[in-house]
Amino acid sequence: MLLRRLREIMAERVSAQSRLDRIVSLIAANMVAEVCSVYLVRPGKQLELFATEGLNKAAVHKTRMKWGEGIVGDVAANARPLNLPDAPSHPSFSYRPETGEDPFQSMLGVPVIRGGQTLGVIAVQNRTHRLYGEEEVEALQTIAMVLAEMVLSGQLIDPAELDGGDRKDKPWRASGINFSEGMAMGRAVLHEPRVKIEKLIADDPVAERARLDKAIEDLREQIDAMLAQEDSVIAGETRDVLEAYRMFANDRGWLNRLREAVNSGLTAEAAVERVQEDTRARMHRQTDSLIKERLHDLEDLANRLLRHLAGRADTAAEEQLPLDAIVFARHMGPAELLDYDRTRLKGLILEEGSPTSHVAIVARALDIPLIGRIEGVLDQVEPLDWVIVDGETGDLHLRPTSDVREAYRHKLALRAQRQAAYAAIRDVPAMTRDGVKVRLQMNAGLLADLPHLSETGAEGIGLFRTELQFMIAPSMPRLQHLVDLYTQVLDAAGDLPVVFRTLDLGGDKVLPYARPLGEENPAMGWRAIRMTLDRPALLRYQIRALLAAGAGRDLSIMFPMVAEVAEYMTARGLVEKELERLDKRREPRPRSLRLGTMLEVPALVFQLEALTKAVDFISIGSNDLMQFLFASDRGNPRLGNRYDTLSPPMLNLIKQVVDVSAARGVPVTVCGEMAGRPLEAMALIGLGIRSLSMPPASIGPVKQMILSMNSSALAAALTEMRQNTGHSVRSALKTLAQLHNLSI
Ligand code: PEP
Ligand code: MG
Repeated sequence: MLLRRLREIMAERVSAQSRLDRIVSLIAANMVAEVCSVYLVRPGKQLELFATEGLNKAAVHKTRMKWGEGIVGDVAANARPLNLPDAPSHPSFSYRPETGEDPFQSMLGVPVIRGGQTLGVIAVQNRTHRLYGEEEVEALQTIAMVLAEMVLSGQLIDPAELDGGDRKDKPWRASGINFSEGMAMGRAVLHEPRVKIEKLIADDPVAERARLDKAIEDLREQIDAMLAQEDSVIAGETRDVLEAYRMFANDRGWLNRLREAVNSGLTAEAAVERVQEDTRARMHRQTDSLIKERLHDLEDLANRLLRHLAGRADTAAEEQLPLDAIVFARHMGPAELLDYDRTRLKGLILEEGSPTSHVAIVARALDIPLIGRIEGVLDQVEPLDWVIVDGETGDLHLRPTSDVREAYRHKLALRAQRQAAYAAIRDVPAMTRDGVKVRLQMNAGLLADLPHLSETGAEGIGLFRTELQFMIAPSMPRLQHLVDLYTQVLDAAGDLPVVFRTLDLGGDKVLPYARPLGEENPAMGWRAIRMTLDRPALLRYQIRALLAAGAGRDLSIMFPMVAEVAEYMTARGLVEKELERLDKRREPRPRSLRLGTMLEVPALVFQLEALTKAVDFISIGSNDLMQFLFASDRGNPRLGNRYDTLSPPMLNLIKQVVDVSAARGVPVTVCGEMAGRPLEAMALIGLGIRSLSMPPASIGPVKQMILSMNSSALAAALTEMRQNTGHSVRSALKTLAQLHNLSI
């Protein structure tokens, strides 16, 4: 058998060159070819003749072809075999007199590839017009794989010399989209570990075939189990991917190719790798994104199969992580991210993803930077590579040079210094210099957010977005699950208040398990309170869970996207019904219950008098309020800078809410993103707002600003600014802040 002979040659204690010489003779004899030659890639993308049987030996190490030049160059450039009965008539043919190849008509060239990188070409030639059989092509590809191993081991060429452009030891930089801010430096970890293949040629092909079949069987069972399991970590796009896995795992063509590769004498692992190389080559040639996607799925599946064969874990979360792990994945589900050891996970890089994807929500809750949409990053990264994630700019640096690392060390140290300064004021009350106390609370939505309560010294949770839990779950959470979750939130908060907002679904907040609504204008569509009032069972179900968790405690509930007082009254009626139900069942009520509403729809401002009579509190959702006040989509980048929260209309509106509420003694909080930006927070305090709820990371910077500000001076300045006819008062506020040396 050819491979067995090859293994003997590989084991001989001779120089690498003589080993290669013997290999070409062996191939020529075995394939009844008059010529067998090996070309390897040299610097500058040249292909050098390294060994030949049948061509002029004097041309060895002399003849060089350019990338894409001649049949050999074509095979290398396109990373695919060429099987030509009449080579001289092929458009790529390039005649090299020094090799003495004129009498040869037919030619078969296959690329020597490893990990998607072309290292060289093996070619056989015959005098006759011969079309090489499919098995012959396969056999030559298998040999090419063994040869790739030999090249990579550095026996033939210095590895540093290998095609400079493509080597994975050079720095690589890319920009993506930052879905979660922050900055980190650490070591690369592949979410789906790659298996390094140690052994290529099997000792016992029959046993090897049995191993392969068993691994395929296990893999199929695993995929079926994942798909069948309702409560598994899968959701949305991940389910599509699993469906694709199942399709491929049962695909005869793929399975046959794997089995043939094992039958040719390869180990099961090498067979998977061999078939995968073909997939990669096809992937690079594909331009159709849908097919490319499916080929990606096939690649993932092959990796999974390799892990089964090697007995490795399915994701790196189950393995030992480096201290500063930066995880790389094509895509990831939210639950998969939560599986990682939080103390070691420092950043996440995805080839795909979107700002509203659920993994991004979790990354923000965990406070780790996440950069997404970096195409091809998985082809570039090697495990344990140095990585810098700049979640402020969206830049990724792989294997950065020492000066880039130094620059980032400096940046990270500055950040750490700032964090230390925030930590130092953690327990200092947020009080302005003229003695006005501002309540600083944080926004949350997942259990992963809760540790931030004590880290930041937040005075409570001013906005608990209950929909996030529904969004990251694979299916509708059960009642008991919700009761447990809300209980854990209240336990973590202890004596601090928590304001639970009922489900705010719709718009950009979609459930993976719900049918898309196909609305033309989802932000203004059937969402939030509108949806839950139309589906009162859902709202009652949630209120029931909240009341159960809040039994004997202080509980606050608010409703999102309320547009008119009547909506609030209906929702309130549902709460009262649930309270009556408790009484009937003699189950305990909360110790105190406060009901309020978000103020996100401008219509509600025209009913402020009535509203303030009906609610216990109001929370201004500046994100949606801005969007509806200016009729300007909050997610549209083209409109991102068009209107400013620090504009007279917005400031006047907030001032009106503050005044009417104050007259009625109804507390007002601002909980949109605006509250977490020091300059905006400064303006809000100037308008009379005394309670803010914001992302946890904003509490330090906002508190620092408050400690340095004087509220009465600001109130006077804002009264004037509100009369301004300009587009925004931002720069006037900035100047004022600078003048008074405020930390913004
Ligand atoms: C808001 O609209 O300002 C708000 C806090 O709600 P969300 O961002 O969850 O829509
Ligand atoms: Mg909102």
